[in-house]
Amino acid sequence: MAEKNHIPNCSVAIDSSDAEDYLQDGLSAKEMIERGDGLTYNDFIILPGFIDFSPDEVDLECKLTKKITLKAPLVSSPMDTVTEADMAIAMALCGGIGIIHHNCLPTYQANEVLKVKKYKHGFIHDPVVLSPSHTVADVIGVKNEHGFCGIPITENGKLGGRLVGIVTSRDIDFLTGDMSAIKLETVMTKLSDLVTAKSGVTLSVANNILETSKKGKLPIVNAQGNLIALMARTDLKKAKSYPLSSKDDNKQLIVGAAIGTREDDKHRLALLAQAGVDVVVLDSSQGNSIYQVEMIKYIKAKYPNLQIIAGNVVTKRQAKTLIEAGADALRVGMGSGSICITQEVMAVGRPQATAVYKVAEFARKHQVPVIADGGIQSIGHIIKALSLGASTVMMGSLLAGTSEAPGEYFFSDGVRLKKYRGMGSLEAMDRKDATGSAMNRYFHSDVDKLKVAQGVSGSIVDKGSVLKFVPYLQCGIRHGFQDVGVRSLNQLRDKMCSGDVRFELRSHSAQLEGNVHSLFSYEKKLF
Ligand code: GDP
Ligand code: 5GP
Repeated sequence: MAEKNHIPNCSVAIDSSDAEDYLQDGLSAKEMIERGDGLTYNDFIILPGFIDFSPDEVDLECKLTKKITLKAPLVSSPMDTVTEADMAIAMALCGGIGIIHHNCLPTYQANEVLKVKKYKHGFIHDPVVLSPSHTVADVIGVKNEHGFCGIPITENGKLGGRLVGIVTSRDIDFLTGDMSAIKLETVMTKLSDLVTAKSGVTLSVANNILETSKKGKLPIVNAQGNLIALMARTDLKKAKSYPLSSKDDNKQLIVGAAIGTREDDKHRLALLAQAGVDVVVLDSSQGNSIYQVEMIKYIKAKYPNLQIIAGNVVTKRQAKTLIEAGADALRVGMGSGSICITQEVMAVGRPQATAVYKVAEFARKHQVPVIADGGIQSIGHIIKALSLGASTVMMGSLLAGTSEAPGEYFFSDGVRLKKYRGMGSLEAMDRKDATGSAMNRYFHSDVDKLKVAQGVSGSIVDKGSVLKFVPYLQCGIRHGFQDVGVRSLNQLRDKMCSGDVRFELRSHSAQLEGNVHSLFSYEKKLF
């Protein structure tokens, strides 16, 4: 006879064989999605689990692609109002990654990639160098273009030349008069006063020299006294304050870049590869195409070490094509973006929660990570996307309006705003230096004479710095994971697949109940 059992807080005795079923309320992810209606993140909620750990213990390590692991599942979108070098640097410092947009000249995009790769080195292998006969105006020019002014001076003004001194901001800050008339040999700190290190010095020894010498820069020279590299004290400080940062083996931040699938994108790709890009995104709203298949094969043959994110896709069949072609990750979403009117105009797309689940379910079998792209409005949406099988999320609107997003702030009715626009908006497609790259995402043939917009252009409220906003997102995700009762992304995925993480659909009124209500007025301050 089946043993009788008491469910906690329940006076009814039931058979133990029924106990688990009795306690198992809600739905598994599979049951919820298989009901057939397309779901968005707002259509469902995750039921709470059991807590026996603190949020600090939650591990957010995740796979961006087959070969790239991140400490935070956060990716900034390749949009010209979201990701250029500043955003990519900040995202990588916080443990995520930025994908530089391609609505610009190939040289411009490659230079943005280079800025990220040069940003935070152990050693700066290609420092800007000047000669003693250059002038203070040249240093100011470097400062304006690159943002730094600690410049080693060599006899011939080139890397590899004999080191004769260094110019830093302290040498030029208080100079007055005609800057183009002041030669650097008259203001530079001379070699005899410099602390240098010999080539072959290890990173940790060089770090020690910088720390004890209290100098801002450490030139590295060979036995003949020729300059071969440079170290910056600021990088030591940055390395200490961003322990999660996403770095390659050379301790450089990692960065992605978007490209199209046309013939001239191969030239763009060559420049990006030369600049050291770690991963490319094949940027298309409908990625299930012969163009992507051919581009993936081309890249795999020519740049075998470059990781490829293909997409966008929203169905298993689309995913299959790209996985078979060799994609290292898939970007999922069609028509879910905040600035997007694809579903309205093209009548094609898929509600994002269903799209993420379906593609991730298929891609998981092939160990291909999935990026949930678009429609992320809150930390809750990030947690929901991850709970449906995504490894990372890609954000546009959530990161637009930060100080690292491209563009200037402006005021409207006293509110500080930045522009945010769809890459398929007429405004983005008309950008002067765009070379048609935004159009490539939304048009597949040169015969498209008339532009049909698939996005809108708008503005977004100032969010402050990504360096504060992204840690807030990470902290919120950890708290959410704690409520769900999972300690890591892997555990979340395992428990979702096994049906241990439970979900429930939300009626329209349940969604209203789940938001702030019944107040005359309120202020929504998030962190
Ligand atoms: P500076 O004192 O004005 O030179 O600037 P900081 O040393 O405060 O910051 C310079 C930052 O730019 C560091 O993170 C460097 O790694 C980075 N950087 C990249 N390339 C170069 C370069 O060619 N020269 C210098 N000085 N810094 C570079
Ligand atoms: P958000 O995070 O703002 O909701 O969505 C950003 C995503 O929307 C991008 O990563 C990209 O996939 C998509 N997107 C960007 N611009 C456009 C556009 O003009 N039209 C459409 N359909 N999607 C866009």
